[in-house]
Amino acid sequence: MKALKIFIPFILLSLMVYHCSTVPITGRSQLKLISSSELNALSFQQYDEFLSQHKLSADAQSTNMVKRVGLNIKNAVETYFAQHNLSKDLKGYAWEFNLIESNEVNAWCMPGGKVVVYTGILPVTQDETGLAVVMGHEIAHAVAQHGGERMSQGLLQQLGGAALSVALQNEPQKTQNIFMTAYGLGSTIGVVLPFSRTQESEADRLGLIFMAMAGYNPNSAVDFWQRMAAKGGDSPPEFLSTHPSYETRINDIKKWLPDAMKYYNK
Ligand SMILES: [Zn+2]
Repeated sequence: MKALKIFIPFILLSLMVYHCSTVPITGRSQLKLISSSELNALSFQQYDEFLSQHKLSADAQSTNMVKRVGLNIKNAVETYFAQHNLSKDLKGYAWEFNLIESNEVNAWCMPGGKVVVYTGILPVTQDETGLAVVMGHEIAHAVAQHGGERMSQGLLQQLGGAALSVALQNEPQKTQNIFMTAYGLGSTIGVVLPFSRTQESEADRLGLIFMAMAGYNPNSAVDFWQRMAAKGGDSPPEFLSTHPSYETRINDIKKWLPDAMKYYNK
């Protein structure tokens, strides 16, 4: 009996260690029940489906700006990861940056680097640096693998921690729904499983660092969030839902700026 008491925590601990990975730069450990390649395959399929059902912006200038900012941040992150022997963490990513025509003040990034920006957010971002605040945040969600973490939590809660491939085979609709709700793309807003506060704060912090690495002054993040706060109104999915209050967020950003500035113009 005594041996069992010692043994059970040991098994639980080894399971936890086995199913955890570490977020680059912040060092936070996270639950990971799904391989990135499995999750990316599902993500790429859902992303193409989303694009086929939505209208790409006809504004060539803004579209090019979205692609340019995305590429600049992606290249900077890849360079940093290569220098720090972390390139394996970005293996299998297939970055894509698209601007869709929609009044929603929103943007998101699916696993594996599939970004969508809505035209409705451009009046708030105002310029290229403002856009880099938003895209840095979204790219951070993908690099920190928050989607895989959320999907792992969803599978654990709803399908008893089934492997993604098994879940897709046995419960394809339910598994796709978990994925879609994880991205705020489910048909019912009420069932959206938003990113957690921890993940949002982490995306803010990493987003500042990533935009700085790409040569965009991270101090602009404070102005951007002040404009967002002044706008007020209802919170659409991902970009605003469950994010920390504007005040908390702006205070946190001010606290992280000195660290982010170390990556600026290096
Ligand atoms: Zn977010």
